[in-house]
This record gives sequence, C-alpha cells and structure tokens, in this order.
Amino acid sequence: MIDPASPPRSLPRILLAEDSETSAAIVARHLQGKFEVLHARDGLDAWNLLAANPEIEVVITDVQMPRLSGQDLLRKIRHSDVPRVKDMAVLVMTTSNDDNARQEAFTNGASDFLVKPVDALELRARVTVHQKLARTIRELETSRQMLQEQATTDPLTRLKNRRAFAELGLRHFALAQRHDIELSIIVLDIDHFKKINDTYGHPAGDQVLMSVAHVLTSKTRASDLPARLGGEEFGILLPNTKRSGAALLADRIRVAIQQSQFQLGEHAITVTASAGVAAYGLDGEESLERLLEVADRRLYLAKQRGRNRVIAMN
Ligand code: GH3
Ligand code: MG
Ligand code: MG
Ligand code: MG
Repeated sequence: MIDPASPPRSLPRILLAEDSETSAAIVARHLQGKFEVLHARDGLDAWNLLAANPEIEVVITDVQMPRLSGQDLLRKIRHSDVPRVKDMAVLVMTTSNDDNARQEAFTNGASDFLVKPVDALELRARVTVHQKLARTIRELETSRQMLQEQATTDPLTRLKNRRAFAELGLRHFALAQRHDIELSIIVLDIDHFKKINDTYGHPAGDQVLMSVAHVLTSKTRASDLPARLGGEEFGILLPNTKRSGAALLADRIRVAIQQSQFQLGEHAITVTASAGVAAYGLDGEESLERLLEVADRRLYLAKQRGRNRVIAMN
C-alpha cells in the first residue's frame, strides 16, 4: 500500500501478496517508514506487479489466494527466465499449524518463512536481512561484470584486447572444427606508425589508433570481432567468412583508413595500413595459433612489398 504522503522514493520496495485486507494492513503497518509496500490482492496480481516494477527487492506472500496461490507464484518466480525475478527473495507467510505448506514452500524455493500473525520486529528484521543481502548480491554482480569488462577491453580504443581475442578465437576455432564452419582472421598493422609518434607526439598517435579502431568497428558486422592485439596492431576474427570475403573486407578497411583524414591540431594527416588474411581450412586446420602465424607472415610480406596492401595468399 503506497501512502502518497510520506514515503520518499528511496525506500526499498517490497511486494506484498495477500488477499486478506486485514492481514495486509497489519504487515504494511509494521513495515511503514522503512519500506515502500506494493500490495497485490492475489498471486496473479503479484506476478504482474513484479514484471512491471524492477525496483521490487523482496516479495512477501500469503499461501492461500484466489486466481494464483502463493505456492504457484513462488514456482513461477523460480522458473522465470529473468535473473532479477528468478533470484528474488521470497518470504512465505503461513499459519503456525500448517507444516505441509511450509514444507511445500521450502521445496518450491522459499527464501524464508513468517508465521501469522506476524510479529512486527521479526518481520522488519527478516525483510531487512533479505533486502540487504539481495542488494549486496546485485552489487557484487555489477562489479564482477565491470572487472570482466576491464579485463577484456583495451582502455584506449575500447576494442577487445589480445586476451579476449585469444579466448573468443579459441571458441570460434573449436566451433569451426566441430561443425566445419568457415572462419577467417585479419591481422592489420598501421604503416610507419613510429613516424606519426615522432612527428606529432604520442597523444596524436593515440588519436590515430582510436580512429583506426573506429574504422574497424564501423566496417565490420556485429558477429565479427575486431580487437587491438597490441601497439598499432589489430586483429579481426570473422566467423562464417571465407578467405575471399575476408580479403575483400580487409581491403575495404585498408581503403577506408587511407581515405580518413586525421585532424591533429592544424595538421590533417593520412595514414595507411597493411594486412594479412588467413582462413580455417585453406591455411591451417590444427590451431588458431597456426592461423595467426600465417596471417602474420602475410602481413610481413605486405610490408616488404611496399605497405598499404592486403595479402591473403602466397
Ligand atoms: P611498419 O610500417 O613496419 O609497421 O612500421 P611502424 O613504425 O608502424 O612499426 P614499429 O613496430 O617500428 O613501431 C610501432 C610504434 O607504435 C612504436 C610504438 O612507440 C608505437 N606504439 C605502440 N603502442 C602505442 C600506443 O598505445 N600509443 C602510441 N601513440 N604509440 C604506440
Ligand atoms: Mg489468503
Ligand atoms: Mg606498424
Ligand atoms: Mg607493429
């Protein structure tokens, strides 16, 4: 029950599923001032409120309710595809003599139990514990995701780093082996990059690296994986792509880099890049490492033969 006058928006939001108005009023009164209570009059009502209110942190439910019982609500929650809903803290209220209902609720995945008539202090204590626990778990999950993101992302270009490229590359390589799917890689290196640093300074070099990274992301599909392998060297993993297709894409990227004007203060400079291409099947079937070696060798040939070119076979 939302009291329009008092609760500031920052109070943790609790969903109370209870068909008895009297019982609901008691629970709401006990939680007043500490929590914002949304009241559902049956399980179905509760299920809909849960879907519409991502801020709900804890559910308290009665067992016997019309349309959808507390047990069915609990089962629906635990079988949800949405992690926020599936992992929700659910406190089940039973009468003191109903051991079967408690047993069934436990089997269905209840987080905790409350015995009616609920004691104010016990109710507040349990809801607080579950709400804080849920918040801590959410925060841990957020920082886990941030760490994961940091560990796999190049901070300058925001592309995947060498480590992520190797990990995802191994996965795609295994898929290519198992299901005989095409897989190509491009290794691309900026030409005479050292000169850009030496002439315009390291920050200018960084600007160029970011712009080249932007060319890579804008020219590739969502299923492709552009990465910064280190320094001024980039790799692109192309699942479901033949060598000829990869060579075409590499050349399109080469042209786009050549055509970009990098504005560095008053200077508009141009850069070029060279690339080597290798494909699963044609250039190596045993390992991703082998494929990278072949692409690297072709990149080296492209440098030797005058740079600003793509070599896809030899
Ligand atoms: P090539 O055409 O043969 O590839 O010549 P190059 O000058 O591009 O290659 P080289 O390997 O000699 O030089 C690479 C340069 O890239 C040297 C290094 O200082 C610079 N570099 C590596 N990482 C960064 C970075 O993060 N930022 C900047 N600005 N420069 C970098
Ligand atoms: Mg009831
Ligand atoms: Mg270079
Ligand atoms: Mg290099």
